[in-house]
Amino acid sequence: MSTRKSNNALLTYAEAAAFVAKRAQRLARSKPAAERVTLASAAGRVLAESLRADTDQPPFARSTRDGFACRAAEASAHRPLAIAGSTRAGDPPSGPLPRGAVWEIMTGAPVPRGADAVIMLEHVEFAHIESAGAASAPTIRLSPPRIIKPGENIVLRGAQAHKGAALLPAGTLIGAAQIALAASCGCTDLAVYAKPRVAILSTGDEIVPIAAKPKPGQIRNSSAAMLAAMVSAAGGQPWILPIARDTDKSLDTALARASAADLLLITGGVSAGKFDLVEPALARQGARFHFTGVRIQPGKPLVFAELPCTTGPNQNQNGTKCWCFGLPGNPVSSAVTFQLFAAPILAALAGRRDFGPRFAFARLAADVKAKPGLTRFLPAACTFSGPVPKVKLVAWQGSGDLAAMALANCYLVVPDDSDSLHAGTTVNILLL
Ligand code: AMP
Ligand code: MG
Repeated sequence: MSTRKSNNALLTYAEAAAFVAKRAQRLARSKPAAERVTLASAAGRVLAESLRADTDQPPFARSTRDGFACRAAEASAHRPLAIAGSTRAGDPPSGPLPRGAVWEIMTGAPVPRGADAVIMLEHVEFAHIESAGAASAPTIRLSPPRIIKPGENIVLRGAQAHKGAALLPAGTLIGAAQIALAASCGCTDLAVYAKPRVAILSTGDEIVPIAAKPKPGQIRNSSAAMLAAMVSAAGGQPWILPIARDTDKSLDTALARASAADLLLITGGVSAGKFDLVEPALARQGARFHFTGVRIQPGKPLVFAELPCTTGPNQNQNGTKCWCFGLPGNPVSSAVTFQLFAAPILAALAGRRDFGPRFAFARLAADVKAKPGLTRFLPAACTFSGPVPKVKLVAWQGSGDLAAMALANCYLVVPDDSDSLHAGTTVNILLL
């Protein structure tokens, strides 16, 4: 069944990407099971219920500066104002602020009742009012010609969120900022979606485990370790299976086991060679093929299919089918096709609201020659230090070049109708 796939029979990159995006959107409608994890272990997980504010945020009108709480109209008249009191962060709300006075206040402290603005410490002049027989009382005034408006340097109670308001929807990827927000709401743990189980099946008679010393003609299984890292980063639970041989029997046994996963990534065996036996093996398992090639380089022989689910105790969380990608065996091809097509499906299976590869603009540092017909994703190094990202290709020896891939931090996208890209032009990069 492994037939050479002519370009015309294959989907364009845009067609394949749109197809996968549509599937991912549909998949995202059914939500995975939820479980609770501590806040400390929630990074990288996906929120399974909306996070709600347990109080008004902020819970009191808060000063954002060290300075003096005042009535803006009084302060803007530049008359000396007596210091009526002092509140530091952690003190209970105080006041009322008497007329013609200010109240010393620290960043994060509650603004006293009656005040409507906070003058920054750096914006006041200090003076003393002499009162007969008594020690002079300290006063301040707003340094002319500055004026201050009501609301300045105060965040009002509930300005960020009111009690009970949804701060984050279910499906949000949890990172440091989301953890901080959850902590501010008093959440010591969070409901997150169970991670989809992602089987990784490497195929090839030449592939040996990484701990083995390869004999002549053999190579270590670098792709399984790479894909496991990519799966973890994308929110999946990697499940590395033993390497399958290039025989029908070995593939049949491996696939029967692997289809218990929510998503199956097979590497190798999908090209047009004599021992590329994966497609027929998938067909024997009852696979439904969505596409069997895309006009991209690297990654042209990519297969997207679904397998009927294994029933019984191993049944996957999806319950009906195991989504399956046959990734071309070269590691760069596997990496690119995972990023472009498998990652969006995995994100949807993980319950995420956002999926799809991320692209950005960059300025090309040197000319790039290309052949039209395929959309190319070439390992590239981009510097993000200046105002405009600058990208250049990493020298490589084709899609087996792991060293080149390891030096790249993005892929340069060469559109399928381009025969060259010129230095200085704005180009698209696929972010990792
Ligand atoms: P294939 O797609 O099976 O024709 O493999 C294409 C190339 O990728 C061959 O040179 C394989 O040796 C190599 N390759 C396949 N699987 C892996 C793997 N798991 N790790 C590293 N290289 C691989
Ligand atoms: Mg092979």
